[in-house]
Amino acid sequence: MTRNQYDCSKCPGFCCSYSRIAISDNDIKRLAKHFELPFEEARDKFTYHYTADGCDERVLRHHKDEIYGSICRFFDREARRCTVYTARPYVCRTYPYGSKCGYYEFLKFERTHQGDDEHVPTC
Ligand code: SF4
Ligand code: SF4
Repeated sequence: MTRNQYDCSKCPGFCCSYSRIAISDNDIKRLAKHFELPFEEARDKFTYHYTADGCDERVLRHHKDEIYGSICRFFDREARRCTVYTARPYVCRTYPYGSKCGYYEFLKFERTHQGDDEHVPTC
């Protein structure tokens, strides 16, 4: 198995700021169980129905974030980490779909060139 060449603990959570993080009914069931809520209540509390551009998806709700503008509602904006890690949706378990993360490469490059290990490029 190839070792991951990214370190999420050094990243402010860019992938959790994607505006459309689509999840399945199974993901909602897992979150509902985690929070001990009925399925419908968890679905409505944690997701919304996105239907623009020919899409028909259940998407995670966001809250405001000072770095990226908005970020997944489950993201802890102080600790910069997921608060539902064990119950996180499938897409969050599989991203970035390989041993490399494009944003992490960008982050490393910019931090090296800025000479600042804390620098966060936002565009
Ligand atoms: S953008 Fe990449 S490095 Fe940052 S949290 Fe997501 S997977 Fe980890
Ligand atoms: S559920 Fe967790 S890992 Fe998935 S987008 Fe939200 S904060 Fe990030």
